[in-house]
Amino acid sequence: MQALVYKGPKTIYVESMNIPEVKRGEALVRVFYAGICGSDMHIYHGVHPRAKAPLIMGHEFCGEVVDINDEDNNVKIGDMVVPEPLLFCGKCHACLTGNYHVCYNLGLLGIDRDGGFAEYAAVPVSKLHKIPKDMSKVDAAIIEPVAVAVHTVRMSRLKIGDDVVIMGAGPIGTLVAEACKTAGAKQIIMTDVKEDRIQKARERDFMVINSLKENLVEKIMDLTNGKGADIVFDVAGVEATAAIDTKLVRVRGQIVVVAVFNDPPRVNYRDVSFKEIDIVGVRVYNFEDYDMAINLVYNKKINVSNIVTHIFNLDEGEKGFKVMESGNGMKVLFKLND
Ligand SMILES: [Zn+2]
Ligand SMILES: [Zn+2]
Repeated sequence: MQALVYKGPKTIYVESMNIPEVKRGEALVRVFYAGICGSDMHIYHGVHPRAKAPLIMGHEFCGEVVDINDEDNNVKIGDMVVPEPLLFCGKCHACLTGNYHVCYNLGLLGIDRDGGFAEYAAVPVSKLHKIPKDMSKVDAAIIEPVAVAVHTVRMSRLKIGDDVVIMGAGPIGTLVAEACKTAGAKQIIMTDVKEDRIQKARERDFMVINSLKENLVEKIMDLTNGKGADIVFDVAGVEATAAIDTKLVRVRGQIVVVAVFNDPPRVNYRDVSFKEIDIVGVRVYNFEDYDMAINLVYNKKINVSNIVTHIFNLDEGEKGFKVMESGNGMKVLFKLND
């Protein structure tokens, strides 16, 4: 099979290699589309704390089951599936209390073992989610980021009629905005600094503020009649957003930390106590979020149109990563099979 292999910082090659061996408890998936994620960019730049070369990246993908090495399965050969890419120990306190998605030893397909930037991928059969036969394969390939958005909104206190601010208008920020809309938010205000992303979010009819050009605090206070946002979702994950989240949220409001901060930011705990702000962290998704994401996308309850902006063949791997680096595209996919 052909696979895009990470060899070291900014070094990726397409190579011919053997189809992976399907171990006990695993299934072989013939991959249709696989998306590049922010964490793949960290690997590509050689700054991911766990990923080691050589590695086939890719944890956001869809495909068809072509082999299974297990009995009593939730899926069978020929099923269209999306793998939930979480690898967990099953033995730690988080796992034993039903929270495997925050396992003390959490790993991911495509980071801690080979993933989906290849024609075939071996994955744990228990983590496969079946998708409808007539579901768009491109939509199916972005179920993983949609599941992040679904988990985020379900973990928040969002109530119908709430005003929300979403810091960051990339793919996850946009999907969180779409999920907030589905969940009944009143005003959905997004912020970003990249014109291309601001434009794309405006095309979806979201209000977007360029935080380099406008005073974010004044503007949000204005739009919420001096109250502040009921919920602030921080999807940007930079020092500047963390510094301002506590100013944008209302008294007794909530800040939801979705972003993975490279460096621990400064947070104004005086605001947190004076305003009785509730801060909640969210990480990936669980089995239920994944099934919900499939259902919501398939039934068009979450609008994923135009989230995917680029589709490349595997031998254009370098190009895909360059588009991601430019920050201009949204989701970039590789097409592996029809
Ligand atoms: Zn991802
Ligand atoms: Zn565990």
